[in-house]
Amino acid sequence: MSAVSTKLPVADTRAVRRYAGTLARQHPRLLWSAVALHVLAALTGLAAPRLLGDLVQAVQGGTTVGHVDRIMLVLAGFLVAQTVLTRYARYVSQVLGEQVLAELREDFVGNTLALPVGVVESAGSGDLLTRTSRDVDQLGWSVRMALPEWTIAVITAIVTFVAAISVGWWVALPCLLGVPPLVIGLRWYLRRAKDGYLRESASYSAINATLTETVEGARTVEALGIGDERVRAIDADIEESFAAERYTLYLRTVFFPNMEIAYLIPTVATLLFGGWLHLHGHASLGDVTAATLYVQMLIDPVDRIVSILDELQMGAASLARLLGVAQVPDDRAVSGETPRGEQIEADDVRFSYVDGRDVLHGVDLAVGVGERIAMVGPSGAGKSTLGRLLAGIHPPRTGAVTVGGVGLTELPLDDLRGHVALVTQEHHVFVGTLRENLALAAPSGASDDDIRGALAAVDALDWVDALPGGLDEVVGSGGRALTAAQSQQIALARLVLADPHTLVLDEATSLIDPRAARHLERSLAAVLHGRTVIAIAHRLFSAHDADRVAVCEDGRITELGTHDELVAAGGSYAALWDSWNGKH
Ligand code: ADP
Repeated sequence: MSAVSTKLPVADTRAVRRYAGTLARQHPRLLWSAVALHVLAALTGLAAPRLLGDLVQAVQGGTTVGHVDRIMLVLAGFLVAQTVLTRYARYVSQVLGEQVLAELREDFVGNTLALPVGVVESAGSGDLLTRTSRDVDQLGWSVRMALPEWTIAVITAIVTFVAAISVGWWVALPCLLGVPPLVIGLRWYLRRAKDGYLRESASYSAINATLTETVEGARTVEALGIGDERVRAIDADIEESFAAERYTLYLRTVFFPNMEIAYLIPTVATLLFGGWLHLHGHASLGDVTAATLYVQMLIDPVDRIVSILDELQMGAASLARLLGVAQVPDDRAVSGETPRGEQIEADDVRFSYVDGRDVLHGVDLAVGVGERIAMVGPSGAGKSTLGRLLAGIHPPRTGAVTVGGVGLTELPLDDLRGHVALVTQEHHVFVGTLRENLALAAPSGASDDDIRGALAAVDALDWVDALPGGLDEVVGSGGRALTAAQSQQIALARLVLADPHTLVLDEATSLIDPRAARHLERSLAAVLHGRTVIAIAHRLFSAHDADRVAVCEDGRITELGTHDELVAAGGSYAALWDSWNGKH
């Protein structure tokens, strides 16, 4: 696999805002009921300072125990009302949050599945893994908790501020004093925070990427003895991650104390200013009490607004990374044309994995319908690459790979698989029943008869019927473990169901347990029957049986003809054939 990993893109702020706006507009009723309930809850919360102010006023002027009791009773009533309203307000916001989150996840899964295979390979699975785990979690937290809390805080702050200045316009003055340190601190922080957190998540992706790469390539790492080097690579990633976390920690240690001061200024100023006004007979004691309590009440929502802004930023950074996945340009452009026939043709095909380094240099190959072509050649010559292009996995950089005159990457994926399929050693058994594992090969649906027919064709029906659950047996990780040969048969049965006209076989049988190989070769023969086959041959006897042999060297097809013709021509193939025969 390639060592250069191009990272998946990250969406910009505008795209994130636009997307968040669309999501919000999708549930207007839930959204407005949540807002209305929160406003009501905040309003009932305002009664306490006013009532306490009145109480102070009353006590100063001399009052009865009955009067105090009445005030306390009213206060208790408001508290109960506030609790009930808050409960429903939160409930509605959580329901809204869960819905939005579900939609986000669905979109993300859709976008991930639509990613071109080539992009997933070159970006590495680490980045995608981090986005599906960490970023989805972070966003989930933001949507479930941060966003509703933030909305509540904003509403509470507005309502409380209005209540404070309704006591007297003078209250606005001390409140204003808190604004400059708040704004300056916020601006300083927000300007640095997003990049800081993006760098932090990117560093987690890097750790994941290096780790998964090392684990997936464990054998290679061991074989080449590059364990120390891999450990050093991971150490470097961790160091970068540490530096990134240290930076965001630094941002917070400057930011939060600054905020504390910004909050204290208005409360202190209200008390001092109110006291001065009272002494000069411009404000009653009740008003000063209520005003001070209101301003103090403002601290909590404002603090929540600011600190959750931090969480929301992390959420926005995660959302940007999740939306970025949707921005990967599709390497398939469906043209809507229908192929005329099943003739596969490569015409002057050039292809590069890395810009500027072609691995195929102008390959022409016309495969006859029903023909069997064996592709041979030294390792690294480009056989697998050509195979992938002939199966429509990558589009060529220039030139064309067509079936019946239509470019393979212009066909919708479901259609493409009916024309040509790639068979490699990688065959995945998904968690689910055997039936599900097989039916996924036929997008338009497969009956049990079709499935059993396919299993019979690959000689697998006997052991499937012997399973306690038959087709309903749950297989894959956590379910019944299948042997390598059985998994391979399932993969072959999928091919029978997908019924592609052309098969590209890449080392399809080379890893099979030799005892099972004979059996599987029969299964394979059943699948190949009547189809066009391009086999990347690692054993020359399959080349011997092919209609034509293509010799691939240095990204070019250097020899093309029947076995006998090529042996007679005395070129590279003849040399390979001789050495192979010599060994046996
Ligand atoms: P073969 O199948 O004949 O062994 P390949 O098609 O696998 O040859 O490889 C052809 C060339 O392309 C080699 O130089 C290989 O290093 C390069 N290559 C193969 N896969 C990738 C990839 N995913 N990214 C970058 N280079 C690749």
